[in-house]
Amino acid sequence: MKSIPKEQIDTLIRIQELEKQAYLFNAKLNEIPKKLGALDLNLEISKEAENTMESELKDLKKKYRAMEDETRFSQGQEQKNQEKLRSVKTNKEYQSSLKEIEDLKKKMSAMEDDMLLVLEQIDHFESLVSEKKKETETLYQKIAMDKKVIQAEAEEAKNNLANIKGKIEESIKVVDPVLFTRYNWVQQKVGRLAIVSVVKSVCQGCHLNIPPQMYNELHRGDTIRFCPHCQRMIYWNGGSEQHKRSPGLEAGPEESPNTKGQGAP
Ligand SMILES: [Zn+2]
Repeated sequence: MKSIPKEQIDTLIRIQELEKQAYLFNAKLNEIPKKLGALDLNLEISKEAENTMESELKDLKKKYRAMEDETRFSQGQEQKNQEKLRSVKTNKEYQSSLKEIEDLKKKMSAMEDDMLLVLEQIDHFESLVSEKKKETETLYQKIAMDKKVIQAEAEEAKNNLANIKGKIEESIKVVDPVLFTRYNWVQQKVGRLAIVSVVKSVCQGCHLNIPPQMYNELHRGDTIRFCPHCQRMIYWNGGSEQHKRSPGLEAGPEESPNTKGQGAP
């Protein structure tokens, strides 16, 4: 590759950095529907529990009304039994009527006990439903607030993304099209990290040593090579230990063990 102005290399690195930021904002935006869905699900679960309780309460009330009907029926029966008792002719009939009256009384007394139990259950479920309704309402308010926060975050991410995309476009305008085409080509092969620095002869993409000759060439700071191991675009980082190129930094003597006496001008 011919010599490449340092500004061009910097622009390419900047594009990659901006693309990384865009990727992160995109990922954040992609998470938004999932986050909102999780909130809705929480509310749905709470409402479902509320509905189940309400349905049980309804059943209990229905049961209680059926018991009331049965009690009224038994009261009618009791009246008939009393009339029957007054009109019996024989002792046997009298005994039999008495027994019927006794049996009915027992049945009605048992029914009264059952009705009290059901009333207690109704009270219990009424307070449960009322608590659950309050809980659901509180949750609804909280979720509405959480949603607002998430939507604000999404709005911010969208704005940032648009801003970054604008910056990428600006940078693409000034980068050498051939260089940019190669960068895209490498990205298709190796993923988003297409251009990496070389620190102390080590490619920061695959962490393998590059040949000394290649390192010497890179050391001039005005060219890009392809890592023989991972095929990424590699550049000399100007002596910085960071991945990013740090313009203006000169190489210290410790930075170029393989180039002692060769690379220095
Ligand atoms: Zn590599």
